[in-house]
Amino acid sequence: MTSSPVLFLIDASGIRRADPSEPQLMVTDWGATRGDGIFESISVIEGRMPPLDARFDRLEASAADLDLPVLARSTWTEALAQAIATHDPVERLAVTLVMTRGVEGGGDSPTSWLLARPARDFSDIRRIGVSVVTLDRGYASDVAAGAPWLLLGAKHLSYATNAAAIREASRRGADDVIFTSSDGLALEGPTSSLVVRRGDLVESPGAETGILAGTTQATAFRFFESRGLRTRFAPIRARDLADCDAIWLVSSVRQAVAVHTLDAHPMPVDDDLTRALNDWLGSVTRAE
Ligand code: PLP
Repeated sequence: MTSSPVLFLIDASGIRRADPSEPQLMVTDWGATRGDGIFESISVIEGRMPPLDARFDRLEASAADLDLPVLARSTWTEALAQAIATHDPVERLAVTLVMTRGVEGGGDSPTSWLLARPARDFSDIRRIGVSVVTLDRGYASDVAAGAPWLLLGAKHLSYATNAAAIREASRRGADDVIFTSSDGLALEGPTSSLVVRRGDLVESPGAETGILAGTTQATAFRFFESRGLRTRFAPIRARDLADCDAIWLVSSVRQAVAVHTLDAHPMPVDDDLTRALNDWLGSVTRAE
């Protein structure tokens, strides 16, 4: 049993444990040189296998977008089970499933691995919330359908632009970002989905706007419905964000984080609702 990161390399011959503190990737791997690959992040709470169907659905959709092969769900699940079994049952493990296009000149064999490590503690940020700036992503909200090579709905490894946006937020004195489209719609965060509440209506932008279809957003909608609120996917104009009764950025590992400041203006926050939402997200991850 360990509380350190655990790595499993996966190839045609099976699953092999490897040392994550040693070099494991070729410098000519397309994932390393071009960010040409896909990934999923999974939160494991108290050593229990989380629900995986939505993850695999999205991983396979990302694979299809990038013309990558699909690894059997049973193989990923077996690697995850081994990672959980080898780990001390820490509060939370952050698990990453990765598949790259493989090594230059290496034929069609992808490079795949699963890395499990103790998750960062996001309890403070869940309690305190974040300040956010809106940043233009530079695309119109209908660009995804006409330019699928932008891979906008895929969870691919090229996160350099997302990381650059977070650094820009930091330069502007904020914690996080809500991307907007060039035609004025609010889209998503660099690592999270956008959920807003106006009265008893809870909304998120639809996937047709070129955002990642969030698994946490889907679970959050179930939470709000259980509380009698209505939910729907709808275009959210960036200029209307300031009039929302609540804004959250939601994602698997960090869960739901309330936006307390938007472009330097204070936003209303509902601490009780945010806490209940996070309890729900945690319990669904544990229970299914
Ligand atoms: N949108 C982007 C761009 C993301 O990177 C992520 C998570 O990494 C999300 C949304 C939230 O997805 P999920 O809730 O499935 O973690």
